[in-house]
Amino acid sequence: MNFNSALENIKSYEAGKPIELVVREYGIDKDHIVKLASNENPFGCSPKVKDAVRNIIDNMSLYPDDSMVKLKSALGKKYGIRSDELVIGAGSDQVIEFAIHAKAHNGSKVLMNSVTFAMYEIYAKQVGAVVVRTTSREHNMEEFYSLYQEHKPSIIFLCTPNNPTGDALDAQDMISFIEKVDSDTLVIVDGAYMEYARFKDASKAVEPKDLIQKFDNVLFLGTFSKAYGLGGMRVGYGIASEPIIKALYKVRPPFNITTLSLEAASVALEDEAFVAECIADNFKEMKRYEAFADGKKIQIIESYTNFVTLSLPQAKNSSEIAQALLKKGMIIRDLSSYGLNAIRVTIGTQVQNSRFFELCEPLL
Ligand SMILES: *Cc1c(COP(=O)(O)O)cnc(C)c1O
Repeated sequence: MNFNSALENIKSYEAGKPIELVVREYGIDKDHIVKLASNENPFGCSPKVKDAVRNIIDNMSLYPDDSMVKLKSALGKKYGIRSDELVIGAGSDQVIEFAIHAKAHNGSKVLMNSVTFAMYEIYAKQVGAVVVRTTSREHNMEEFYSLYQEHKPSIIFLCTPNNPTGDALDAQDMISFIEKVDSDTLVIVDGAYMEYARFKDASKAVEPKDLIQKFDNVLFLGTFSKAYGLGGMRVGYGIASEPIIKALYKVRPPFNITTLSLEAASVALEDEAFVAECIADNFKEMKRYEAFADGKKIQIIESYTNFVTLSLPQAKNSSEIAQALLKKGMIIRDLSSYGLNAIRVTIGTQVQNSRFFELCEPLL
């Protein structure tokens, strides 16, 4: 069968391996498997969220509130923005899809960093857009600007902090760059890890409210999947000026967020103390990774997220290391498909991290 020819050069997204797969493939007991591959919060979500979801379990038979009043007002309050400056997606992933489908088309150009979140390219190619990438591993605003001038892209992605490398842009550098961009170019600032960056270094913190007040061509993305520990509930959001949100609503399917997910995300925002504790623990544990890498003379990229990226020396192959760890029940992310001889490891609990060091000891 012939399909849309735009699909011919798309490679499907390669998700972090689920625990169930390792149980099946390697016969390892479920309780001995450690998953540090998808940047999930190792402490899960707030206990208040679990209670709230249990309490509305009978509502499963009802269609969700498609106006998403409760979640939108909670997010509006958190960020000091209006409901019509917000769109909710099944993960911020879905907001990326909305944005590309609303703005780009066959032949449009989409500019992004050399190494960055894989879904930008996949959605761009779905509409026949052409992907333009920088060459620097970290976001380099001068390079972005010269490629912007050369290609006049319709969309620019800035992922800060960046996945899978963990580095973050200086917020002021980013704003100076956006000031030079034409108002018909949509700039998407992906802040999936912004809660972590904000905690570590105020100069990296991007304020969505300031951003959209200053620019009507910027879309800020946030998610409940990382710091809020709700990856399985699939809730993310976009913050932008009203005309952008209106356009995104035209490509949004109805009822895109489930009743339980809406409740979980709303209640998660009522327990910021839980999230703050998890983030503080994250950076405490990150120091152990830095010490480990230091001891092994392995380069670690300074991270503003809940993961670390270890650049391996030439003598070590990241795919082989990832495979050897998998056989022992440790799931991490091999970055060879991004063209890097590196592994990305989510910061887990103290016990999980100790296990990682123990298993890596003979390998690295
Ligand atoms: C995890 C992630 C997302 C989206 O996650 P969702 O679960 O779809 O909200 C978006 N961008 C980056 C950079 C991510 O790492």
